[in-house]
Amino acid sequence: MTGLSHPSSIAMETWLRSAVWLCLLVSVCHAAAPAEEENPEFWRKQAREVLQSALKRKLNTNVAKNIVLFLGDGMGITTMTAARILKGQLQNRTGEETVMTMDTFPHVGLVKVYCVDFQIPDSAATATAYLCGVKSNLFTVGVNAAGRNGVCRTQKGNEVTSILKWAKDAGKSVGIVTTTRVQHATPAASYAHSVNRKWYSDADVPAPAKREGCTDIASQLLNNTDIDVIIGGGRKYMTPKGTRDPEYPTDLSAGGKRTDGRNLISEWLRMKEGKVARYVWNRTDFDAVDPATTDYLMALFEPGDMRFEVERDPAMDPSITETTEKAIRILRKNPKGFFLLVEGGRIDQGHHSSRAAVALHETVAFDNAIARALELTSEDDTLTLVTADHSHSLSFNGFPFRGNSILGKSPLFGTDMLPYTTLMYGNGPGHKIVNNKRPDIRKVDTGSKDYVQQAAAPMTTETHGGEDVAVMARGPMSHLFHGIQEQSYIPYALAYAACIGQDQSHCVFQQSSVPTPTVFNSAPVPPFVHLTAVLLSVLLAAALH
Ligand SMILES: [Zn+2]
Repeated sequence: MTGLSHPSSIAMETWLRSAVWLCLLVSVCHAAAPAEEENPEFWRKQAREVLQSALKRKLNTNVAKNIVLFLGDGMGITTMTAARILKGQLQNRTGEETVMTMDTFPHVGLVKVYCVDFQIPDSAATATAYLCGVKSNLFTVGVNAAGRNGVCRTQKGNEVTSILKWAKDAGKSVGIVTTTRVQHATPAASYAHSVNRKWYSDADVPAPAKREGCTDIASQLLNNTDIDVIIGGGRKYMTPKGTRDPEYPTDLSAGGKRTDGRNLISEWLRMKEGKVARYVWNRTDFDAVDPATTDYLMALFEPGDMRFEVERDPAMDPSITETTEKAIRILRKNPKGFFLLVEGGRIDQGHHSSRAAVALHETVAFDNAIARALELTSEDDTLTLVTADHSHSLSFNGFPFRGNSILGKSPLFGTDMLPYTTLMYGNGPGHKIVNNKRPDIRKVDTGSKDYVQQAAAPMTTETHGGEDVAVMARGPMSHLFHGIQEQSYIPYALAYAACIGQDQSHCVFQQSSVPTPTVFNSAPVPPFVHLTAVLLSVLLAAALH
């Protein structure tokens, strides 16, 4: 018997190994750091520049003519940090110092994501919070917390409308862009009311619920708010059973799902007669859509969700940057402005399968789309928000040296004498025990898109995480996004900034004026206008209580 089997020998061996690694770590760490960072002036100069721009910054109190809401599904703060490092490393830098586009937003806060019945929420309840302004129950979209998951009779009378509808009611153009199916929880809460987020087509709605008057989410895409731009996946929920998919005609599971015989795509086109409306399902037709002459666009690139960015075929499907650009170019023709929801919807799904590489590449693609949106709009009249609905159980483990691949392994070993990856999950499909130990990953390429990170608890699909998520804001009234707030605060503040929705008592002076005046610090006005405004404010305030 060797001494190694004795517990204290194992402890000693482990300690020695860790000590050796730590020494190595310190020397390698030093070698990896960029040379200019050794000069203290490097940091002082950087800090002075940031301080100067902070001191020069004035509050932007313009009316938000346009709102662009970027929602990273499952994009917790750990995901943001890891994606930032990946983005830099893809550009051959060490990565940590990279500035993502979302990092440049001047106003940042945190939001609390719990929902009414669960400590950790899903995308349906959270979307109802940040789009409709009320917290609700897990699995429900566009209904308040009196609506019970899957119980149709609790839906009627408990519907809540979204900021997308408030914007449309105010005469703005509105759009949704997602990388999931357009009937998925996040976009669904902007236009639908359903006590079950999975009632995608009529085939998914149980017969008793149908009898009680509940309808599927896809059909509500046509019946509720008139949406100018709809881009994502999900065409199988729009056509009748037996309809072959145009891209995958031999795959019957990709074909139409509807049992009511309706073809919602042709119905939608008929509803838009007299306007220029386009339906496309592939890149060639999408590229041919001229935003200057197009009023309505429905683009459904896949039967279900779109492909992950790392698996996307650019010949068939555009990127989220391209879809965001097309949407903005169509919507911004409206002189009254627009509201656009852009969802990086599959960050979440990458995490659920515990493929961190997939989730991070989705996040980098999402950040690229934000950059394009900023190029196409002005900070003077466009309020841009970046936030997430909830986090994941992703953890960022110590101590990789500077510039270590974010998808790589920590130089330290566990007490089980095995290495571990920098990114791991609290639970998920990556939990495995081989010969009473975690799998040995020394020869495994953990940077591969197919690598599944290890997890503490076994689950077929990894779960969401419950800590606060960030909200980053830029443009008119972006300073309203500050501190730590409830997630349901978001649409209320957005609506206030855009002078839409119920609370417009602060906007009475400018109701008739052209967009982009300074509403909140109003110019001199005749006394009788003041008096009318004060009276209106009092009446409005009374009506709202
Ligand atoms: Zn999820």
